[in-house]
This record gives sequence, structure tokens and C-alpha cells, in this order.
Amino acid sequence: MLSSIEKLLKFIKLERERGYDNRAVVGGLDKIIPSWTNEARAGGLSEEAISAVTDRLREYPQVDAAQRPEFVEALLKLVEDSASAPVESITPVVPTATAAPVPPPARLAPAPTPEPIRRVEPPPPTPAQREEPRPAVVRSAPVDEARPLIGLDAPLTVLQGIGPKTAQTLAKLDLNTLADLLYFFPRRYDDYSRLKPINRLEAGEEVTVIGTIQAIQSRPVRGGATQLVEAVLNDGTGNLRLSWFGQPWLVNNFHAHEQVVVAGKLEQYLGRLVMNSPEIESVEQDHLHTNRIVPIYPLTSGITQKMMRRTMYQAISFWAPRVGEFLPASVRTSLKLLDLGTALYQCHFPDSQDMLDLGRWRLAFDEIFLLQLGVMRQKRSWQQAQARVFETPEEWLAQQTARLPYTLTGAQQKALADIRTDLASGHPMDRLLQGDVGSGKTAVAATAIAMVARHNAQSAIMAPTSILAEQHYRGLTRLLGAESESGPAPLQPEQIRLLIGDTTAADKQEIRDGLANGSIKLVIGTHALIEDPVQFQDLQLVVVDEQHRFGVAQRAALRAKGANPHLLVMTATPIPRSLALTVYGDLDLTVMDEMPVGRLPIDTHVVPPVQRERAYQLIRSQVDKGHQAFIIYPLVEQGENDETLAAVEEHARLQSKIFPQLKLGLLHGRLRPDEKDEVMTRFRDGEYQLLVSTSVVEVGVDVPNATVMIIEGANRFGLAQLHQFRGRVGRGSEQSYCLLIPDRDDAVENERLAVMAETNDGFVLAERDLEQRGPGEFLGTRQAGFATLHMANLTDVRLIEKARNQAQTLFQTDPDLSAAQNASLAARLDLFWKAGQGDVS
Ligand code: ADP
Ligand code: MG
Repeated sequence: MLSSIEKLLKFIKLERERGYDNRAVVGGLDKIIPSWTNEARAGGLSEEAISAVTDRLREYPQVDAAQRPEFVEALLKLVEDSASAPVESITPVVPTATAAPVPPPARLAPAPTPEPIRRVEPPPPTPAQREEPRPAVVRSAPVDEARPLIGLDAPLTVLQGIGPKTAQTLAKLDLNTLADLLYFFPRRYDDYSRLKPINRLEAGEEVTVIGTIQAIQSRPVRGGATQLVEAVLNDGTGNLRLSWFGQPWLVNNFHAHEQVVVAGKLEQYLGRLVMNSPEIESVEQDHLHTNRIVPIYPLTSGITQKMMRRTMYQAISFWAPRVGEFLPASVRTSLKLLDLGTALYQCHFPDSQDMLDLGRWRLAFDEIFLLQLGVMRQKRSWQQAQARVFETPEEWLAQQTARLPYTLTGAQQKALADIRTDLASGHPMDRLLQGDVGSGKTAVAATAIAMVARHNAQSAIMAPTSILAEQHYRGLTRLLGAESESGPAPLQPEQIRLLIGDTTAADKQEIRDGLANGSIKLVIGTHALIEDPVQFQDLQLVVVDEQHRFGVAQRAALRAKGANPHLLVMTATPIPRSLALTVYGDLDLTVMDEMPVGRLPIDTHVVPPVQRERAYQLIRSQVDKGHQAFIIYPLVEQGENDETLAAVEEHARLQSKIFPQLKLGLLHGRLRPDEKDEVMTRFRDGEYQLLVSTSVVEVGVDVPNATVMIIEGANRFGLAQLHQFRGRVGRGSEQSYCLLIPDRDDAVENERLAVMAETNDGFVLAERDLEQRGPGEFLGTRQAGFATLHMANLTDVRLIEKARNQAQTLFQTDPDLSAAQNASLAARLDLFWKAGQGDVS
């Protein structure tokens, strides 16, 4: 059936479902006439049928309510009849091969005629149509498949209607070139083909609903710490409750009687349907009749959704078909992927939900595939490099491990065996040591350092913050620099130094000298290590702790201080294996999946918000025993300001109202790094009994005396991140506790959080998290640099496996991508990595 007919049938049926209130279409059914006429004509529906339908539509608003059911049935029949009528001839827009390829114009010419629908040439517009605002579109020219990305690096000012000023505004969204536009995706889509009346909504659905605000107001909650905005939406069939935490400005932006569109997930609360923190926008009248699925783009001040959509339409419809395909045909056909141009077009202006899914799948595939090819190329270049050989005798190693204050776990021994083999291989070690918080990675790093020091060579260890660097300095000096009955220490304490931002100029000079003449064997530091002009006499081992906090460039910069030194990177983020192999495919992987014996599992509970007092009680009783506690506050929507606000306000409230007799520290993202370090140091040293923090609380920090971790708004965090927070406690010998307090008592959400109470295993939680949120989201929140996996967000592990397999197959046959059919791919790969998209670890 023609899509114009289908669309019309949908609206008519919706109208019937709504009880004939003439609101299936915002503004009334007659509002769809102009666009529907265009579409019907373009689809070849006869003029006779078109005018029969439009006449009725025009009449409908005037029809008496009692007469409407009958009228609608008649209309329905009329439409169904015209669906079976013969279709007039359709002229394809894309001319045949006779036309020579047209070079891209420097400035896109204005469209000679409005062109509502791609691929189909409409007849000349009627005056009525001309009044309809339409995005300016340039007629599609023949597309030469083999052409590379023509002119896509051109500035946005080549687009019609975009002057330098608008271009500047768009630059705030990082939109500078045509290619940027093509890859700037909607943050959501409003699917008007699936609009549902409120009385037919069901819990759990993700929906878009149109209605009128009945009431909207704001009230303080959590003892005044934050504001709750509540609204009631009505669409004539029923009411829907909406609520937002911490967005008080909404009451100024939206008013009763205003018509809005909201999108979000329906939840059940006390037996009623509610939408928590839905997206909300005023209705744009022309949404309904421009597209069935309307893209909603991220905006910045100075640009409206309408302007944005018009610009995008102009750019996408002209340029998407001209983007050169870079995937080899073999890859595309074996996975039935859309071609790049179609995929891009469908991701912006989808013809249907299915096409949108296919488009996203293709683009997500690209990201993972390019990522994978890049890491394989990287790995190969490392494997080809030479490095110094460090032999480690068995007895010596046994002696070293005997020096440690505990017996190594099996996992620690296995990790050391891997490292020992790497160091003796003659090629640079590139190993990722992945071990859950508290699994004892430091002892492994210490022993690796000892292996290298035994040959008189130097090592460096880099940590993301001063406090972590200091912690390592103390720990490693104890592990490496102290005599014991089982043998001499691998290093003397004076051979180990700490270099951080705070190190005095005199000390820095001393350290530079010591590293240059080789008297210092181990330096522990922060970024200062790379920023400082330190020169090593013989740097052979580089250890990077909490590696996700560093970019590839920083890792490389430290590495460059030696000649092909061995590299050990450590992370506590338990990334599921499939994902780790892809994003860290350039590194060999050792997983430490075993905890030192005798660790008490952290006693974890989900606490409903009304029982918050229980959590405070726990803090009091633990502090009475001399222990310390953390309270974490989440990001409350829209940027860290609110997160900071929540923590700052709660800190004040807790200090004055709840725990006046305790000392409370406050940590948030707006503090300078040295201020953060200071707060953490004071907490570690016991000056504060309670630390109120945003999610910036440092990974890896060891405060063994802390036994309570309370996480407010726990529903806003992924499981993997909750697990990281929880890892801040339970590091001593005492029983520790973790209480998760969701924003509200929601059964579905509580069930998700309950997994935290069931297991202390970070890998299990990571797998669950990945299933629930997809790789982009999973990595995005934790890993700097993954933000660029836009599309991979939306898909799943199957995609990763497929992309990985394809990349491996291709790499086996043509590792340098030198074959002719892989030339565009090679170029695209370079671009991807240069743009920093591959900057992942
Ligand atoms: P992470 O892997 O999170 O960096 P750490 O290296 O900081 O963990 O170790 C966490 C704690 O466990 C430290 O206090 C350390 O002394 C202790 N530890 C490490 N290995 C063992 C072991 N094999 N047996 C007992 N305790 C250990
Ligand atoms: Mg650590």
C-alpha cells in the first residue's frame, strides 16, 4: 500500500480510538492536508482520490460531534477504496547514466522546486503547497559510488542559509564541517506513527505522548535539598503524571494549557502510570505532517529545533548519497549492511523504525570495525619491535614473593608468570592487568618492578591523582625497599622517589638528576611525570595504574621516555571479555579473577528512600566504633552543576541537621585537583568522619578505616560504577556496608539494584551492566575517550563479535590494507584514528 494511504489510515484510526475529539493530529485533522497531498501525489495517487479525501478532511472540524463516527467510517472506506485504485506513473528523480557526474557546487544552489520526498519527482507544486515551509533541498545528482568523501571537510557556510554567525553557533556543538553534520545524530526521534492515547499506555513502554499540561508545579523534597517538579498531562483520553527531580526551571519554561510532547519510559508508581524525567518540548505544529519519524537534535542556545532540522535535512539529503563507501563489498554483503549513504540518511530521517535500526546497526558496525582494525594494526607494530630481555630465575622469584607480607593468590601468581614471560620475550610487553578492586594489583606491579630492577634498569609508575601516587609511593617503598628475613630488599628506599605537582623545585631537580644518572631506579608520579622534562638513564618498565584515566597519547608520552620499554597497564574496571578484546585488542590481557582470602564480602542492601534514617543510624553506630563513611550523590540530569549542587546542599544539611557532632568533608568536580587531593588526604587521615562526595570520588583510594558507603540516587548509576564506589570500603579487616538508596521506591529499579546485594563479583556485575546498557554507555561513563562510540551505544555484544570477526578475517588477508579494494577503507581508518576516535585506552 502507498505510504500516504497508510499514514492517513493511521491518523483516522487514531481519531476513532480517541473518541473523535479531532486531536489525533495536533491542531485538527485538516492540518495534514498540505503535506499529505504532496505525499499522495508523489506516490501517484489520482487527483480525483486526493481531492475526495482532502475535501472530507477539510470538512471534519465542522462536523457535529454526534455525526463524527459515521463521517469517519465513510472517510475510512473512501481511503481504503483509493488504496486499491490504480497508481499513476512515477518518475524517478535519479536520472540515468547519461548524466555526467557533477562536481560538488561551492555553494549549494537553492532548490528549484520544493521536494518533499526523496527519490520521487513531484509534479509542480500548487500555490497552497508553496506556502508550506519546507526544508530547502537540492535535487539529488547521480552518485558515483567509487568517489571518496568529496568535499565533506567543507565549512558549513557552503550550505544555503548558513552565514558565519550561524556557523559560529553550530561550532558550539562541535559542528564545523559537512562531515560533522552527517555524523551529528538526533538525540531521539518522535515517532508520530506510533502515537498512543494516554488511556492505552502500558507500564514499561518507551513512548512519545502529546497532550496539554493541566497543571505544573514544583515542591521541595529531601528536606529541601532538591526540588521535585510534577505535572499532569491530559490528552482527552486520560491523565499522565510526570515528574522531574532537580530541574526547578521547568516550571518557568512550561505552563498550564500548553500543548507539549513528552518522551520517556512509563513506570508504575502506587498503581498509577508515571513518567520520570521525561524529555519535554512544546509541540511544533509542523512535526506531524513533515515526517512520520521526526529527529530531535541536541541544541545549543541560538538555534531552534526547526532551524537545526532544516539545516540537517538540507545537508543530509544532498550529501549522504555522495558519501563514498569505504567498507569492502565483501564485508557489506556478508552482513547485509546498508550502504553508508543510506545508513546516514536513515539515521537522520528514517523511513521507518526498521530502517532506522538498520542504519544504526551499520554505523555502529563501522565504529567497532575501525576500532578493531586500528588496535590490530597497533598490536602488530608492537610485536615487530625489539625490547630488552629480562630473564627472571625461578628461585629468585620465589624469594621475592616470600618477602611479601602475605601469600599471593593464584591469580596474582598467574599474572606474574605472564609478565615474566613477556619480559623475557625480546619484544615489548603490552599487557593489561585487569583485576577487581582489592584484588592486589599493586603487589604484582611491585614484583614486576623488582624483576627489572634486578638488572639495574629503571621503572616508572604513573597514577591519575597525587593521592594515588602518594599511596603507591608509601606502599611500594614498604614492599620493595624494606629488608626482611627472606632476603635483601630489591631496592633501597632512596632509590624510590615521588614526583607530583606539589614536589618542590629543589626536589624535582634532585629527581631529574637521579633519573638521568641512574641512581633512582623507580619513580612514582602523576601527569607531572610526562610534563616534566625528566630524562631517564635506562627506562625499561612503564606501569600505568587506573589506565582508563589516561589517553593513548599520555601512555605513549611516558613510554617515549625510554627506548621501547615494557608496558604494564592496570585497571580495576572489570570489562567483559568480548569488549576488552575489542577495545583493548592491542594489549594482551591478564584477568585477576580471585580475591585474597579472608576478605569479608561487603554487606549490601537496597534501602527505600523513606527509610533513609536507617542509613544515618548505621553511620552513627559505625562512627561510634571509630570508623568512617562515604555518601555519594549522583548526577541529577543535565550537567555536573546539579550534581555539585546536590552534594553541596546535602553536605550543609547533613552537617547542620543530621550529624552536627561529626566533621564532614565535601568533594566535588568543581574543586581543583589539589583541593580534591587535600580533602581526600584529610579523610584518609581521619580528620573527617564522613565524606560527602559526587561521583568524582577517586578510584583506587585506600581508606581501610572506612566501613560505610551510602549511594543516593543509586538508580542513576550503572552496576559497574556502583561496584567501583562500593570498592572504596571493605579494604580493611572489619565488616563493611554498602547501602543503595534509589530516588524512589520502584520495583523494577530495585530489582536491578538487588543484583548488587547478591554478588560482590565485579565481572558478573559488568556483564549484567553491559546487557542492560550496551557497550557505549557501559564504557562511556567510566572510560575517558569512549565518548566517541556514538552508535555502538545503541547496540549489543553480538555486534562486537561480528565486527571483530570481520576485522580479523580482513586483517589476515590484507594486514596493510594495500589491496585496491581496501584503499578507501585504509583512508577511512587513518581518519578515524587521527580524529581521536580510536583514542580509547
Ligand atoms: P587493587 O588491585 O585494587 O589495586 P591493592 O593492590 O591496593 O588492590 O590491594 C588491596 C589490599 O589487599 C592491600 O591492602 C594489599 O596489601 C592487600 N593484598 C594484596 N594481595 C594480597 C594477598 N595475596 N593476600 C592478602 N592481602 C593482599
Ligand atoms: Mg590499585
